[in-house]
Amino acid sequence: MRIAFAALVLATQLGAQQRKPSVDILDYDLTITLPDAGSTIDGVAILTIRRLARGGANDTLALDLLDLTVKSVRVGDRAAPFTHAGGVIRIPLGATADSARVTVAYSGAVKDGLIVSTDSAGRWMAFGDNWPNRARHWIPSVDHPSDKATVTWTVIAPSERKVIANGTRLEEMTVPQKDDPDGHAGAPIAVTKTKWRESKPIPTYLMVIAAAPLVEYPLGNTACGLMEGGGCVPQMVYTLPEQRRIVPGAFAEADSVVTFFARMFGPFVYEKLAHLQSLTRFGGMENASAIFYSDRTFRTGGVSYGLLAHETAHQWFGDAVTAREWPHLWLSEGFATYLAALYTQKSRGDSAFLAEMSGVRTAVLGDAIVAQRPVIDTIETILTALLNANSYQKGGFVLHMLREEIGDAAFFRGARDYQDTFRHGTALTDDLRAAMGRASGKELRPFFTQWLTRPGFPEIESAWKYNAATGQLTLTVTQSGKFGNFTFPLTVEFTDAGGTPHRSRLVIPAERESVFTVSAGLRAAPSRMRVDPDVALLARITER
Ligand SMILES: [Zn+2]
Repeated sequence: MRIAFAALVLATQLGAQQRKPSVDILDYDLTITLPDAGSTIDGVAILTIRRLARGGANDTLALDLLDLTVKSVRVGDRAAPFTHAGGVIRIPLGATADSARVTVAYSGAVKDGLIVSTDSAGRWMAFGDNWPNRARHWIPSVDHPSDKATVTWTVIAPSERKVIANGTRLEEMTVPQKDDPDGHAGAPIAVTKTKWRESKPIPTYLMVIAAAPLVEYPLGNTACGLMEGGGCVPQMVYTLPEQRRIVPGAFAEADSVVTFFARMFGPFVYEKLAHLQSLTRFGGMENASAIFYSDRTFRTGGVSYGLLAHETAHQWFGDAVTAREWPHLWLSEGFATYLAALYTQKSRGDSAFLAEMSGVRTAVLGDAIVAQRPVIDTIETILTALLNANSYQKGGFVLHMLREEIGDAAFFRGARDYQDTFRHGTALTDDLRAAMGRASGKELRPFFTQWLTRPGFPEIESAWKYNAATGQLTLTVTQSGKFGNFTFPLTVEFTDAGGTPHRSRLVIPAERESVFTVSAGLRAAPSRMRVDPDVALLARITER
């Protein structure tokens, strides 16, 4: 996602590092009845589970659910006992077969996860907004990204609201209403039942619905031949009626963005890609097949192509391949940051790309968290605090350096292999390292360790020296050692007196000071000398 507001603090817990799940949730069949005012919902969740272990605590199914009241639980066809305390529903499974269906009926006023609001025009609307672990406020679930599942949504809502969700729309029908049982005057409110099905497994943090007076703006069939299993990717924008004028805007590039990523990283895997004006608290949220953008973004100038590219990139990195544990969030946000820059390069050219990477680097160098914590941060317990320059900008720049380290062909082959291997599943940083190692034939453990498990970055000072007597040009590179010494390749360039540029690629060892002879036998002093002319190194560079 993109962060919208600076002060985003939620006391959410990181959870155990080593999860040994006793069940795998395969499918959520969720029926939600929405009100026409207020925030009280009725829900029925039918979970298809597979038992992975038996005995002791494994014989109790634990589902996350906060705030709402559980009315009944069934395991298979039987009513089952349960407890609901501390945000966890516990259901004894006993001798239940390895595959089972568990039905939870529940209701109550939603406080989070499903954002319910009435806008200034008096229109009631609701939008799912589950990242990182807020699905548990309205969906009985194993609310952790390690457990992906398919989902069917059946939403019963006042007909004035359009209901959009993950996947394909299977049904949209008006529900016949009985006369108002309370005997109020006037006709009963028309109600529509809308059914959507996401047939690809996704984490709970991406399972969403929208119910709002939205209008659809079709973008047509895009990226033809690049959908998983063949075919085109239908894309569309949903806005409130008064914001329709901002479309297409950046959405005119939605086809070329999906086409670009699909050619590079493998097929687009979902049934469609909708872009919605929404009530997400983030600037954008990459919900699988239904990207939610903040209401404010639509109302103030519209969605930028960079935001569109970032959220679309997540459909591959984050959605199709999900970081299994929170400390590996950079696998999602670092890729989205870097892929957006790659789209800039493709659509706006090299200098725009270098300017963007330079901006990414500046953000890293000035960030307090980067100086204190590594990208793979196993200490942070507030999940929203992981939405920082480590996960986004430093993660993105590390990918940029990895590409430099192993070359374009190996980098893109490795990224494609990583997608092919873990598509519809989950991965950790070591899985990416292994894929890139296979693609390049290189041992990348030192690279990954240095850049992802240590705080900070190199701080280097470079000093050129030209000796007129010998014609030797030397470069001294001094590391401050503030975050320890690093080893890295460094491209240097000097322009000779005749105006011809010369480049060398030096390998800087993890030492305080290194001296290199860059050229010998120069007849005159160089006219210009630069280090890292291509913004390829994540370092604070001072040129003397
Ligand atoms: Zn993101």
